[in-house]
Amino acid sequence: MDADQFRQFGKAMIDYIADYQETIRDRKVLPSVEPGYLQHLLPDEAPQKGEPWQEILKDVDRIIMPGVTHWQSPNFHAYYPTACSYPSIVGDMLSGAIACVGFSWMAGPACTELEVAMMNWLGKLLHLPEEFLNCSEGPGGGVIQGSASEASLVALLAAKDKFVRSIREKDPTIPAAEIKGKLVAYSSDQSNSSVEKAGLIGSMMMRLLPSDEDGALRGTTLQEAVRKDREAGLIPCFFIASLGTTGTCAFDNLEEIGPICQEEGIWLHIDAAYAGTVFICPEYRYLMKGVEYSDSFNFNTHKWMLCNFDCSCMWVKDARYLMDAFNVDRIYLKHNKTSHLPDYRHWQIPLGRRFRALKLWFVLRSYGVEGIQEHVRKDIALAKYFESLVKQDERFEACTLSLGLATFRLKGDDSLTQKLLDKITADKTLYLIPCYYRERLVARFVIASRMTQKSDVDFAWSVICEHADQIVAPKIK
Ligand code: PLP
Repeated sequence: MDADQFRQFGKAMIDYIADYQETIRDRKVLPSVEPGYLQHLLPDEAPQKGEPWQEILKDVDRIIMPGVTHWQSPNFHAYYPTACSYPSIVGDMLSGAIACVGFSWMAGPACTELEVAMMNWLGKLLHLPEEFLNCSEGPGGGVIQGSASEASLVALLAAKDKFVRSIREKDPTIPAAEIKGKLVAYSSDQSNSSVEKAGLIGSMMMRLLPSDEDGALRGTTLQEAVRKDREAGLIPCFFIASLGTTGTCAFDNLEEIGPICQEEGIWLHIDAAYAGTVFICPEYRYLMKGVEYSDSFNFNTHKWMLCNFDCSCMWVKDARYLMDAFNVDRIYLKHNKTSHLPDYRHWQIPLGRRFRALKLWFVLRSYGVEGIQEHVRKDIALAKYFESLVKQDERFEACTLSLGLATFRLKGDDSLTQKLLDKITADKTLYLIPCYYRERLVARFVIASRMTQKSDVDFAWSVICEHADQIVAPKIK
């Protein structure tokens, strides 16, 4: 493909993307395909000769789009948002074009320095403690990881390395393997699956402690678990607090947990994957009270902050722990421009890294802080509006409301809510998923798309009620 063909293909694709986004409401949110559908539509072998871009674009429409779950549809209310915005798409395009692999300052000066600057902009916007910023005098700083899962794992591995080093400094006769076998990590039973996975991959015992009836982990629960483990000769090492759990967007009690972690010398990592964006709005910062106790903090701009996947922002108070844990040098990685600026390869699992800061920069400049605040506040207001609709129908129970997520259920046995969700999924017009709240099945309704409006919430509620009418007697008007 030469530059002329690229211009044509690229421009046609931009039009295709804009049309897709602007007409997305016309599509069912869930596709009507069955597992294996694509195997029958693709040739068994790669083509021997190149094909014209027009043919490729035609096939996108013919065989790819019918198999897409439309996460950006205003009728998508499952999981959490996976952000998408035009400036972010353009940022990713430029990242793809520059195509640098910025593992060190030398390998990508702009890639490194824009990331440092963006992490500082964002850290200040969230009002994170000063020690997290690259611009403070200390050893802290921010880095863009691919996902919250990676951030949790990186923090866990850094904590593990820190503990092994510090114990062996005091007594070098203790084998590292013996220490590693005694380290314990904690989180709540409401934490995301990626937290448990971090324990599995990082080979650290991970205790998922019981949360309270609102889904929050309390200090006394952690204190008791730590006490028992110490008595058993184990070494409490790492705690992952959730600010915004996946199920109901509950917040662990940081003000109780933080001092315990500090006292016990436990590394406190905060997973605010979805909810972190809300701290850009001053009126919600009360939800992160106690953040000053944390050693590392992470949130996904690729969830609620209008940056396309992947763009997970992580800060650490002391990046030397990452560098100690992940510094593996080779002659081909060295350069003579070392400075206070990071070689980000020491802050992450892979060697290679994309120029992700571009999309963050484009989004922050295009929307401005006020634009992002408006987006977040609109979603929160819509979730509240949805809850008000639930409350007006006596057949339903409004269960939780936290930020852009409301949960609800049909009164009675769990099987009724399960039936409702099954019907909604089979219909494909909306997409909602369940979770458990106080041991009962509830349906989650998330304001997920950047484009969701009040009329979309009204539409969703009318679809939900239509299906409910087939399960329980229709609402008396
Ligand atoms: N943590 C929480 C609280 C989440 O809700 C999610 C995903 O929904 C994750 C972590 C995982 O995020 P990622 O896909 O970026 O690893």
